[in-house]
Amino acid sequence: MKNEILKAVKFIVKNGLVKGTWGNVSIRDGELIYITPSGIPYDILKEEDISVVKLDGTHISGLKPSSELPTHLEIYKNREDVNAIVHTHPVFSTTISLVVDFIPPLVEDAVMILGPKINVSEYALPGTLELAKKVVKALESNHAVILRNHGLITVGEDIKEALTASLVCEKTAEIFLYALNIGNFNLINEEDAFILRNKYLNSYRQNSKDIR
Ligand SMILES: [Zn+2]
Repeated sequence: MKNEILKAVKFIVKNGLVKGTWGNVSIRDGELIYITPSGIPYDILKEEDISVVKLDGTHISGLKPSSELPTHLEIYKNREDVNAIVHTHPVFSTTISLVVDFIPPLVEDAVMILGPKINVSEYALPGTLELAKKVVKALESNHAVILRNHGLITVGEDIKEALTASLVCEKTAEIFLYALNIGNFNLINEEDAFILRNKYLNSYRQNSKDIR
């Protein structure tokens, strides 16, 4: 698990989803949560630094956990299907967080992998239980939620799915900004969006594990 966290951190930096030590990643393994520590530069992060906590927040080993631990724990408590969480500050998703309340069903991959409608959560200060509760509410049963004036959280049944969701959401936010600038645009209707999402969850998701 610790190696998976290190690989995920390299992935989010390489893909430009964070700058510096911002953002955080966690993986659930049974009773334990593995999470990036607070404020350690990613390029010197070692396996023994990774913080290990229980679902109730009890610290088991490693350095002090990320300050966004309350949000990670609240998501795990409310979503039994989630085993990995990626929180980043990418440019397009964060820009979208300033101007709309949700991303509607725009493109097929986003609808399938993230959910029919990606909500922007209400603003709350980082690291607070208030933010954690607002994030869980806005996440619904989706795989992405955009944080107002802040950034992006994606979730997955494994870390690869959560990382893929981050890239797909950021790409969709970029497309949405172009579409908003042009003006009139077409949406996937609600019924088709529901069919696409279920197709992903019930069949395509299993096959896509091979390519993730
Ligand atoms: Zn953040």
